[in-house]
Parts: sequence; C-alpha cells; structure tokens
Amino acid sequence: MTINDIIDLEHQYVLGTYARAPFVLDHGQGCWVYDTDGNAYLDCVAGIAVNALGHADPALIAALTDQANALWHVSNLYHTAPHARLARKLCETSFADRVFFCNSGAEANEGAFKFARKWATDHYGPQKHAIVAFTGAFHGRTFGALAATPREKYQAPFRPLLPGVRIAPFNDLAGTAAVMDDDVCAVVVEPVQGEGGVHPVDPDFLHGLRDLCDQHNALLIFDEIQCGLGRTGALWAHQGYGVTPDLLTAAKPLAGGLPMGAVLMTARVADVMHPGDHGSTFAGSPLVSAVAEAVLARVTEPAFLADVAAKGAYLRERLEEINSPHITEVRGRGLMVGVELDLPAADAVNAGYRHGLLLVAAGAHTLRLVPPLVITRAEIDLLIERLSAVLTAVERPVNWGKQGN
Ligand SMILES: *Cc1c(COP(=O)(O)O)cnc(C)c1O
Repeated sequence: MTINDIIDLEHQYVLGTYARAPFVLDHGQGCWVYDTDGNAYLDCVAGIAVNALGHADPALIAALTDQANALWHVSNLYHTAPHARLARKLCETSFADRVFFCNSGAEANEGAFKFARKWATDHYGPQKHAIVAFTGAFHGRTFGALAATPREKYQAPFRPLLPGVRIAPFNDLAGTAAVMDDDVCAVVVEPVQGEGGVHPVDPDFLHGLRDLCDQHNALLIFDEIQCGLGRTGALWAHQGYGVTPDLLTAAKPLAGGLPMGAVLMTARVADVMHPGDHGSTFAGSPLVSAVAEAVLARVTEPAFLADVAAKGAYLRERLEEINSPHITEVRGRGLMVGVELDLPAADAVNAGYRHGLLLVAAGAHTLRLVPPLVITRAEIDLLIERLSAVLTAVERPVNWGKQGN
C-alpha cells in the first residue's frame, strides 16, 4: 500500500476526529521515529508525553514479551502479581496509601471524581457534591472530565454536561475562594497545565488551594496525567511545593505507551470504597502492569530524575539562545516546555515535518516540547538547530500547511 492508499483508507473508514500529519509512521528507536519512506523525525512529542522511555526500549520490550508469554488478561476477578507489585511501587514512591487502576487519563479523573463524591456523601451527605476545576484546564473528554475542561469547542456540542462542576480562575486564589463553599467535595488542578499551554501553578496558589480545601472539608486532586512520572524532573510534579493532595491521577507515560491510568489516594479516601463501588474490565491487566513496573523502575531512579531536570534546564537555556523574533516566551518545568510564538503554532508544527521534527501545539500560539525523557544533549542540540530553521522557514510567505505535490 502506498502512503496515499493508507491515508485514503483512514479518511474513508476512520471517524474523522483527528487531523493527522501527512505521512505514515512505521517504526521508532529511542527519540526517533521513521515514516514508510524512511524519513527520520526527531520525536519531541513522545506520543503526547507518553513514550517517556522513547521507542523500542529493550527493558520494556523484555517486560512485555515475558509477560505476554505468561498471562495477558484475566479481569479483576483474580489476583495477579504485576498488578499488586505496581500498586506497592506507586504507593512507596508517593503520598498515597491505595491505588485504583484504569485505562486512560479521562477514566482516572472520572474515578477520582467518583471517589471524592462517595467520600463526601458518606461523611457529609449528598448535598456536598460540587467539583471545582480551573480555567485553561484539561481533564479529558468523557462527560465528567469534560465538565471540568472549560473549553467551548470541546463542551458546546455535548451539553448537558455533568452538573455540579464550577470553574475558578487558574492561579487566582481570591477568585477561587469566591466559588468555594461547604458544598464542594473536591478541587482538581494540574500542577503544570499541559493542553492549556504549559502553565506551571504558582506555589502560593497551590498552598492556598490546600488551605481552602481544609477549611471547606474538600479533597484536593492533582491531575498529574501529563506532568507526573518524571516529566518535570521530580517523580511527581507537586513534589518540592510542600503541598500534598488527597488524590492524584496518573496515566500518559505510566505504561510506556500501553493504555493505563491510575488514581492514587490516601487511606481516608480509600476507606469509603468497597467491592462493587467502582470497576473497569481491562484495568491493571498483568501485561500492562508488567510494562508499567519496568517504566517505574527507571523513572523513579534519583539519577534518572536528576538527569531529566538537568536536560530540561539545558533545553530552556538553548531555547533562550535561539533569539528568534517569533519566540515571545519560554516556560515550563523539566522536559515539559512551552514555547510561546507570535505566529500560529500549527504553522511551526507543519514546517517541523519538513525539517525532520515532530512537534505538537498546546493552544493556538504555544509549541509544547515534551520529548522522551531519555533525549540526549546532542539530540537537544539538534532540536534547537531544526527549530531555528523551522522558525526561519515560517517567516517566508509560503503555504507550509499544505503538502507539495
Ligand atoms: C491527556 C490528559 C488527560 C486525558 O487523558 P486521556 O488518556 O486522553 O483520557 C487528562 N488530564 C491531563 C492533564 C492530560 O494531559
């Protein structure tokens, strides 16, 4: 099949919810992916902050194939060792006492919202059910998560949304205090907003949220689906802020590219959940759990995390050196970096393809750099070189958004 055959098949048979890049990817290695014509792309997207260990990592392949030969799936009717060991690892490396596994980020947030409502209902009654989320937040596309994702394009066609979700201004404590009341059961926040444009939370704001939650007997949920698991140079993005949540949701990189989500929680939340209260057929299968164990083994190593922090600092330093008139701001934490442009980020993404660079936008004018955490300094240098060329190319009055013939 030619590239056009494949793209035509997709257009004919796959629901058109994605605008895909104009080539067909075939295989990957480390921070590189290759299309069916053999073109190489330096991957600064990592499957949207998913492939933390890059592509074709030998330890992940070994974990996957070993477990594939033993047992893939049995449902949550049965015990399996990888599931149990992974839960222990997540608790031992976080604030949490218990874990609930699921299959995606949105599903993790749905779980966290349900656990918070159950906790509040059991302790205070059903009137305490409001959930506070923030402007610029992204928590997923399912109905509960969507209600906490205040973007008109995402929400408008699907109303009515889950009732009881209130939106407060991000990084504005007074504005948030104004919507807090004793009917709030949970506040959900991303320590670094991802889809919203790579905006780190202010430390004072995070402390203030903890205080507001304590004053109103509400639970604090950190959505670390994108910023967690080493991305910021800390295992959990909130570490170092001196603020502890009651629940935390993780997903994207958790199983290195296989679908997995998790809700981490303290014992006081876990204690309200009993057999039959929530569940998920595929969740925490031995196959996916075994791969996640291999991911965790690596990303929890202090030396690995220190390296991510150092490479993140190096990346931002090198970005500042680009000195393009199109870059108006560089922000972020670790290897989660937003580059604010004075031109449409989509133009830079499209031009990137011609320069062997996979880039992704976060909002209309922000490029989001979330490469595999195993990117090397030499690859960062190459990224800078190619991004500079991209920013020079998009200056020219050429229609870079279209494929040439
Ligand atoms: C991607 C993302 C989600 C949703 O995850 P899915 O696996 O796509 O459902 C939720 N929250 C944040 C912060 C995310 O980045």
